[in-house]
Amino acid sequence: MQYSIPRGTYDILPEDSPKWHRVIAEFRKLVEAYGYAEIVTPIFEQAALFERSSGESSDVVKKEMYRFTDRKGREFALRPEGTAPVARSYIENRMDIGSSYTKLYYLGPMFRYDRPQAGRYRQFYQYGVEFIGSNNPYYDAEIIAILWNYLTGLGLKKLHLELNSVGCSVCAKEYDKALRDYFQPYLNQLCPDCQERFERKPRRILDCKVKECGDIAKKAPIQLDYLDEPCREHFSEVQHYLDLMKIPFIINPRIVRGLDYYTNTAFEVIYEGIGAQNALAGGGRYNGLLNQIGGKNIPAVGFAGGFERLFLSLNEEKITLPGPPFPEVFIITIGREAQELIIPYLNIIRVKGIYAEYEPDRASLKAQLKAANNSKAYYALLIGEEEIKQKSALLKNLESGEQKLYSLEPISDLIKTIQNKEL
Ligand SMILES: [Zn+2]
Ligand SMILES: [Zn+2]
Repeated sequence: MQYSIPRGTYDILPEDSPKWHRVIAEFRKLVEAYGYAEIVTPIFEQAALFERSSGESSDVVKKEMYRFTDRKGREFALRPEGTAPVARSYIENRMDIGSSYTKLYYLGPMFRYDRPQAGRYRQFYQYGVEFIGSNNPYYDAEIIAILWNYLTGLGLKKLHLELNSVGCSVCAKEYDKALRDYFQPYLNQLCPDCQERFERKPRRILDCKVKECGDIAKKAPIQLDYLDEPCREHFSEVQHYLDLMKIPFIINPRIVRGLDYYTNTAFEVIYEGIGAQNALAGGGRYNGLLNQIGGKNIPAVGFAGGFERLFLSLNEEKITLPGPPFPEVFIITIGREAQELIIPYLNIIRVKGIYAEYEPDRASLKAQLKAANNSKAYYALLIGEEEIKQKSALLKNLESGEQKLYSLEPISDLIKTIQNKEL
């Protein structure tokens, strides 16, 4: 029996993990400069949390969630997204007390039972930020700026930012009415899902992936024409702040975020060149969410993006990220006695943070030297008969060929030389 990885998942292999470390480190560095702190929530939550937050008609809940019942019959789900768990934790831990706003970021795997394709997996890794506690449009712009600065900071160029407003619950009523008026004559041509959406959530028809529905929806009225005064004002302020921050954007009235809790600002960063799945990240304001899952009426705004598509884009632009590191020193021993001598020091060298490689399987000097060169190590450290007698080791710069004998007692000189690449 040979086991294989579940469909729609992948291993992060050792040659790729330095790239992961890098994009994650850049993300942490940037968001921390904006004052965000990391929050880590469990990978599974009560299934009802996601049902309640995304609206039961949403596709994520209906078809894509990994749901399971535990041994006591409780209903859980692997998290399909990060915002609802963060909101749950915010409410449960009373983060609203004592500060007027809270800035949170998260990193981690999410799960959706979706059809796997390029850049789209069933277990996917997300980065996201949530700003909770203010309806000020400044924060919408700041959130967008973080995302834009992160992606462009990694070196990506072929991307653009699309912005829209989906209004609030008040102006949504007007808009829903306009949509029903528009879709009414086509009702029979819509797919069964959309026929169901027509009464309850006509905006969902705009999101439908069925071609006939998409064609009909092309000429549907847009939300921007139905914004009430406060929402129009909010939208224009967001644009004003983005201008001040020098973040370029275009307005795309067709952005409808997939989840029910979004209000006002909605945005996506689109990558021009990885096919149909071209949104690198997206987000928006979700003033309705906290209240919807049992908290107070607290406004919030955030975004999330996936690392998988980010890597596709980085590859597309041939942006090189670090590969695995090379050893700083490769230890070579001739015979058992040399080994006995160096192993205690090898420990000390590694504890000092020096990447030292040692392969005791190889016996001959020639084989060990070859391994050292193949590893692209900076130095080799040789211990042979002569060195044993003198309790010393021969340090050799593998590129220049320069070498020098170092006493092992004390070992500080040798360590200093390796750390500062002095030889
Ligand atoms: Zn409104
Ligand atoms: Zn449809």
